[in-house]
Amino acid sequence: MTTTPRVPAPDASAPRPEGGRPPRVVVVTGASRGIGRATAEAFVAAGDTVAALHRGGDVPEGAHGYVADVTDADAVDRAFTAIEQELGAVEVLVANAGVTRDGLLLRMSDEDFDAVVNTNLTGTFRVVRRASKGMIRLRRGRIVMIGSVVGLYGGAGQVNYAASKAALVGMARSITRELGGRGITANVVAPGFVETAMTAVLPEDTQKQYKAAIPAGRFATVDEVAGVVQFLASDAAAYVSGAVIPVDGGLGMGH
Ligand code: NDP
Repeated sequence: MTTTPRVPAPDASAPRPEGGRPPRVVVVTGASRGIGRATAEAFVAAGDTVAALHRGGDVPEGAHGYVADVTDADAVDRAFTAIEQELGAVEVLVANAGVTRDGLLLRMSDEDFDAVVNTNLTGTFRVVRRASKGMIRLRRGRIVMIGSVVGLYGGAGQVNYAASKAALVGMARSITRELGGRGITANVVAPGFVETAMTAVLPEDTQKQYKAAIPAGRFATVDEVAGVVQFLASDAAAYVSGAVIPVDGGLGMGH
């Protein structure tokens, strides 16, 4: 269920390099690569205690690896229980794990629709539900869900993916209404195109066309997404909740 922590359990009295407060326990799902990995690395670099959830890949140096598939509620529960016992109460959740199974509407199978929704939407629900249990006890918490520009902009061939990402907005806003009074915020970061494995598979011509449509004229780096996630988890964002923060070079014009 869990992998051996790569670093010793945190010393809560150890000062944070930034801000001088004790490290927080931060859970990042899908932390083996791409945006999740960069986000986990950013929190490690800021001095936080990072639990990197993965399905068997490797995790960033300095993070504690825990194996959990977000489509399996029991595995999610076991991972969180181990994190709470070994690292402490979870204060920040970054629900990042996501997949695509693109196809045109008329040709999209139920299986491809369900698989994407099960990971991107229901998977997010599973980790958010489990994480919020401890956050309610703690009376503080930061939930950041990784959505997509496609959630509100739409994407031909991405009915399943767009629906799964759009739904995160309703989820974050409902959580904000339920738990906003308990010191918990819930927000969606909506990246545009980011230089990751997910976009590397796009044909060169398609990448060119997308870049021409992006006012910034380029794809984002994973660090540019991680930076916005970190902001939403910071003290400076204590009063930001139920928001969708685009990181898309202007593609969605703020939605
Ligand atoms: P990658 O494909 O590089 O990484 C996806 C991560 O999610 C991997 O760590 C993968 O783990 C994990 N994952 C997938 N399915 C599951 C599952 N069932 N349980 C647990 N973990 C799982 O994607 P990106 O870094 O590009 O994307 C990260 C997030 O950002 C996704 O939610 C994506 O939709 C979103 N996004 C990405 C954009 C982009 O341009 N790249 C744009 C907008 C949004 P494993 O290694 O085991 O497969």
